[in-house]
Amino acid sequence: MRTPPAELVRRLLDWYSSSHRDLPWRRTTDPYHVWVSEVMLQQTRVEAVVPYFERFLRRYPTVEALAAAPRQEVLANWAGLGYYRRARMLHDAAKRVAGEYGGRWPSDYRTILSLPGIGEYTAAAITSIAFDQPRVALDGNALRVLARFADDRRDIRGAACKRALKALAESLMATAPPGQRGALTQALMELGATTCIPRAPHCAECPWNAACEGFASGSAPELPVKGRRRAPRKVEVSIVIARRGDRVLVRQRPADASIMPGFWELPAVEGPPGALRDFGPLGRSVARELGAFSHAITNTNYACRVYEARAESSQRSAYLWVALSDLRRLPLATISKKALRFATDAGISSKAR
Ligand code: SF4
Repeated sequence: MRTPPAELVRRLLDWYSSSHRDLPWRRTTDPYHVWVSEVMLQQTRVEAVVPYFERFLRRYPTVEALAAAPRQEVLANWAGLGYYRRARMLHDAAKRVAGEYGGRWPSDYRTILSLPGIGEYTAAAITSIAFDQPRVALDGNALRVLARFADDRRDIRGAACKRALKALAESLMATAPPGQRGALTQALMELGATTCIPRAPHCAECPWNAACEGFASGSAPELPVKGRRRAPRKVEVSIVIARRGDRVLVRQRPADASIMPGFWELPAVEGPPGALRDFGPLGRSVARELGAFSHAITNTNYACRVYEARAESSQRSAYLWVALSDLRRLPLATISKKALRFATDAGISSKAR
């Protein structure tokens, strides 16, 4: 790094103060707000998060309000953001902060890291943005900026590359003036989100272009290098909309299920339509196929087929008959929501969408 870190930091902070997007979580350093925004932004785009963030904070303006809310209600208010494990962990951590710390957010990195659902990245983001501590939080955007800046052509998922980029970020953070550490954390992420974007970075507008090695070598658009991921798993799923009048059969997933515990779902079995033969009375009464759709969760692609069934009773005690209009009040698994759209198309009902 030929340009001194303090000079790079100064250029980046100047750029950030004049160019950053006005996002609701940037108008405050309240750790509760910073935390909620960071959790929502994991795996969800900024534009999608904004309305959820504002609505969530209107509903739960303090960590105590969130801690006191019923679990099902929190999950229902999270619906649409996906990855519901985040919402459950958020709720659990709010209870810890309300119960053990009297509603005051701890400022110590290790203590924050010990809260449910908070990993190293989120703990570092909260401590730097809310408490102005010199911690480095590197999201995908910040890592891309640093890999290009250093012209680092190693696999960015590899430990050696990550270590080197973290060390680079720490050398920058060490020179950030007090009161500006949170701004530096956000500036690095913002540069990656708006300027040092994937494939075609806007280097002419970048405050670091005179010092950037990836720009100088011409390799920036090809960076960062990403090693191959495992091929996604493919799973066939047969889903049944079993109805009795305006009610459909649903069940609540077990509290200890690894995916979406506590959520409600339509009857479904993994495997091709023949797998429905093992589904007791529903299987024998399957009337027709309503349609098909695909759904991806992390590294699994689900190929879903939806069937209609007319069932007078269920011998499966885990299932309940629930009116379609009441389903809206329950946290419903996304796959079941998608399947219910076929009920609308088939004229069964439009109320549960
Ligand atoms: S000069 Fe270009 S490649 Fe380098 S950090 Fe800026 S936008 Fe990214």
